[in-house]
Amino acid sequence: MTEKNKFNVVVVGGGTAGITTAARLLRVGVKDIAIVEPSEVHYYQPLWTLVGGGLVKQSTTLRAMAKVMPDKAAWIKDRAIGADPESNSFALANGREISYDWAVVAPGIQLNFNKIPGLEEAVGKDVVSSNYRFDLAPKTWENIKATTSGTAIFNMPTGAIKCAGAPQKIAYLAADYWQRKGVLDKIRIVLVLPGPGIFGVPEFAKPLLEVVKRYNIEVRYSSEIVSVDGPNRRVQIKNLANPDAPLEEMSYDFAHFVPPQSAPDWIRESKLADTANPAGYVEVDKNSLQHVRYPNVFAIGDAGSTPNSKTGAAIRKQAPVVVSQMTYAMGIQSGKPKQYDGYASCPLVTSHNRCIMAEFDYKPQPTPTFPVLNMQKERWDMFMVKRYGLPAMYWNAMLKGLA
Ligand code: FAD
Repeated sequence: MTEKNKFNVVVVGGGTAGITTAARLLRVGVKDIAIVEPSEVHYYQPLWTLVGGGLVKQSTTLRAMAKVMPDKAAWIKDRAIGADPESNSFALANGREISYDWAVVAPGIQLNFNKIPGLEEAVGKDVVSSNYRFDLAPKTWENIKATTSGTAIFNMPTGAIKCAGAPQKIAYLAADYWQRKGVLDKIRIVLVLPGPGIFGVPEFAKPLLEVVKRYNIEVRYSSEIVSVDGPNRRVQIKNLANPDAPLEEMSYDFAHFVPPQSAPDWIRESKLADTANPAGYVEVDKNSLQHVRYPNVFAIGDAGSTPNSKTGAAIRKQAPVVVSQMTYAMGIQSGKPKQYDGYASCPLVTSHNRCIMAEFDYKPQPTPTFPVLNMQKERWDMFMVKRYGLPAMYWNAMLKGLA
């Protein structure tokens, strides 16, 4: 543990974005980098959906943080609790203050289970789970296996969340399992979505609607769950398109809930926050990822204000941009710095062996990595990429700054 309190670059967060960016900065010769990260464990969250679907073991989704921390970075095992970009410093929970010439802000997103009355009390108990928590993803699978009839509810909350496809992927995995077990026709599946469509990119919405039809899923569009009564297994659903309409009451026998999300409170309350958006993400330019008021600060990943789909896939394209923009600003890279086009990818798993690999940019238009393949349909090969290819690429290349 370093005792130094001033670094050339301070990276806050050793998750997907922080480790990838630090590894890349070191590769291009940037020195004196510290990573502030309190956790002893690093998670590969994209596989939590498959843990919930009973296809992957929970233990395969994590590694010791020490194993992914770049050797040449100083690991400060603490939590940032405040940011003061006027004095180029972060306050840490143990009372230390760490200052920087350059900062990369990457503490991820905050899960706000408390923003839906009753949800925080209900989640993890009885028949309620959430793949958004490492500890609860296996419970999703236990609950899916135990359900043989009744009503199953899945929701996506209002506002930006990480992996906007995850709330519906688990509905498809559950339905696929129930179909294979011969009980699907005894289970009413309700998917509550805040938007007017199944997915924001029309090219992928079309095949998804066929999946919804195949599993006979009732989709409540422009709707959100506004309360959960865990002990009585009931929810209230609000119609956002007709807010004066009475709330719909529904009871459930299985529920998978995704919580509303925002920037971490300490970011939201700092001068780094986007004041125009109550979610309070770090306000950066959507193409350069550089802070709009503090040019020596960059944000990457879920904590940034960029309007892309918040995914690890987006970070893979954002990290080279942050490195290029930062080293350009440092004066150690000449030429035009790279720009981020909003690329994100959402592997929409639709069954135990099929996936629609949705890749798109800000426009939003499809940006397939394999343009020769028809990506607007469920594919076995893309399921294999999701299940095996992407995790291998993540651990062996991306976190080392190689992909
Ligand atoms: P994280 O990876 O969450 O890392 C944040 C890090 O910051 C953590 O290590 C944390 O300990 C640390 N931290 C937090 N607070 C502080 C603090 N105050 N000070 C210092 N450190 C702090 N993405 C895909 O690309 N494809 C998918 O299929 C996919 N599926 C998903 C399914 C689920 C169920 C979930 C939950 C996510 C999924 N994602 C997927 C999204 C992806 O995992 C995230 O977008 C990505 O991990 C974000 O990276 P990040 O570095 O911004 O945040």
